[in-house]
Amino acid sequence: MKTLVLQEPGHFILTDTDAPQSPAPGEALVRVVRVGICGTDLHAFEGTQPFFDYPRILGHELAVEIVAINGETPLSVGDICAVRPYMNCGECIACRQGKTNCCENLQVIGVHYDGGMREQIIVPLDKLHPTPGLPVEQVALVETLSIGAHAVRRAQLQTGEHTLVIGAGPIGLGVAQFARAAGAHVIVMDINPDRLAFCRDGLGFEHTIDARHSPEEQLRALCDGDLPTAVFDATGSSKSMHQAFMYVAHGGRLIFVGLFKGEISFSDPYFHSHEMTILSSRNATAADFEWVIEALTNGDVSLAGWITHQATPEELVTVFPGWLNPEAGVIKAMLTLESRVR
Ligand SMILES: [Zn+2]
Ligand SMILES: [Zn+2]
Repeated sequence: MKTLVLQEPGHFILTDTDAPQSPAPGEALVRVVRVGICGTDLHAFEGTQPFFDYPRILGHELAVEIVAINGETPLSVGDICAVRPYMNCGECIACRQGKTNCCENLQVIGVHYDGGMREQIIVPLDKLHPTPGLPVEQVALVETLSIGAHAVRRAQLQTGEHTLVIGAGPIGLGVAQFARAAGAHVIVMDINPDRLAFCRDGLGFEHTIDARHSPEEQLRALCDGDLPTAVFDATGSSKSMHQAFMYVAHGGRLIFVGLFKGEISFSDPYFHSHEMTILSSRNATAADFEWVIEALTNGDVSLAGWITHQATPEELVTVFPGWLNPEAGVIKAMLTLESRVR
């Protein structure tokens, strides 16, 4: 079967591999239909992803069709599903508390071991989320949106709460939309005017702030003179994450959705005086996936305009390097493996 392998940084090959054997008990054999491309994949290609081994079959944002099932499940052959790609151990303290997203022994499909950039894979049944009626392109983005949904659930936003989302990339756009769905008053901040324009015109966020122009003044103007009580940073930028402390109201909370390879430091008197709560948010749980699928189905969140680039396996080998160029204007790129399904 067709398989895309990232041989080493900068070098994809399209090759043939053996199809998987029939599924073991508790597993399904699935056909991969669409694969979303995200920052992790781009960093792996560039060779800047920490702790990454080559060669590797990438692909963790998956829309799949069930081909065969082994075990008791409400799922059926032919169902189109999103895949929750976080393989947890089921035994550590996080797993025992239902926090499978931050398992001590977490392994992510397509990151820590081979993923979905091939025609068929085997997936545990409990990692499959059926998506009746959703277009396959949206199904492949359920994982990305779930990261944002999880961060919003972590923050326990109040209705009408002044909420700032820093970073208008795919993760930040998900955070912003789920914060709005949770009833918050959302402001989006970025340094890229095109992305802010997309937030306003494409997603209907009235309040956006260009972080390069007196952001604190702009924030206070939009929050009745105060600062926001919930601030999400979805940039993965050290500079932005340090600056984010300055945007949190007294008594507020700061939620780091992105991450960078390094340390965060802050003034303890400042932190103390604000009685600030800092939260990290990692991956997503089954409940987050269910929320995303429901929100997409009933139109609470929109993916219109997100998918800016698509490629077949044959095309991907040559077009992928171009997707790294900021000039390409990629919001979300996608690998198209199978065109016969909905
Ligand atoms: Zn991703
Ligand atoms: Zn675990």
